[in-house]
Amino acid sequence: MLTLCLDIGGTKIAAGLADPDGTLVHTVIRPTPGGGAAEEVWAAVEAAIADALNAAGGAVDAVGIGSAGPIDLPGGTVSPVNIKGWRGFPLRERVAAAVPGVPVRLGGDGVCMALGEHWRGAGRRADFLLGMVVSTGVGGGLVLGGVPYTGRTGNAGHVGHVVVEDGGPPCACGGHGCVEAIASGPSMVRWARANGWSAPPGAGARDLAAAAAAGDPVAERAFRRGATALAALIASVGAVCDLDLVVVGGGVANSGRLLFDPLRAKLAEYARLDFLAGLRVVPAELGGEAGLVGAARLASLR
Ligand SMILES: [Zn+2]
Repeated sequence: MLTLCLDIGGTKIAAGLADPDGTLVHTVIRPTPGGGAAEEVWAAVEAAIADALNAAGGAVDAVGIGSAGPIDLPGGTVSPVNIKGWRGFPLRERVAAAVPGVPVRLGGDGVCMALGEHWRGAGRRADFLLGMVVSTGVGGGLVLGGVPYTGRTGNAGHVGHVVVEDGGPPCACGGHGCVEAIASGPSMVRWARANGWSAPPGAGARDLAAAAAAGDPVAERAFRRGATALAALIASVGAVCDLDLVVVGGGVANSGRLLFDPLRAKLAEYARLDFLAGLRVVPAELGGEAGLVGAARLASLR
């Protein structure tokens, strides 16, 4: 029997069918409607569900949903920062009505990414792991003792809003000095521009990575600065949760050693306690599929 999995974010809505081993046998991706009116976004989700159900011949055994946050797990509602029309949107209830008669589980997208990597990706041999996505934002989720750790409202693992710099740059969350305000792609680009990186308008994190790889000193510093913020975060969360592995995915992580080399060097400086000696940081393996695979895993957990 196949499991229906959903991954809902501000730019795309993905639906998939996973077999019992977590292999995706069908995937459909639709853009998230830009206007963002609640029912317009829901219609796109409903269409993706209908497509997947059709591919499954109408029968699935469970549904797992990974949604951008914040979410409210007890109420089954979501209020994604990047989907403005959804505030307290009853996502679990709507999906349950669209796919009646089977269990429906909701989780944050960060938890689903971590679960996916734990089940089928870079985290296969680790039971205490943080999964992170570093791209236009910085998100994450925790798997502790082999099971997802959701926290009180479902939002545990929001590592992008760990504060690492007193008086640091303002963050989209309303605070300042958060990791996201320093290490996300747009934040690094903003810092580099403010410090003399001359790039054409519209240049993004990929251009910054290319410039750093070509030896541009400001671009290199921007990456080192981002990596330092991530290392401080990882050392802190590693100590709080006694982690053995951190899996990092997302567009910025795709820059490879440019990010991972300074990150690991700084982490070795920060994480000095004996129990952190084995803490490893590795690139994600599942790419954009991690959220769907993790949502399928979530659906199978009781
Ligand atoms: Zn923040």
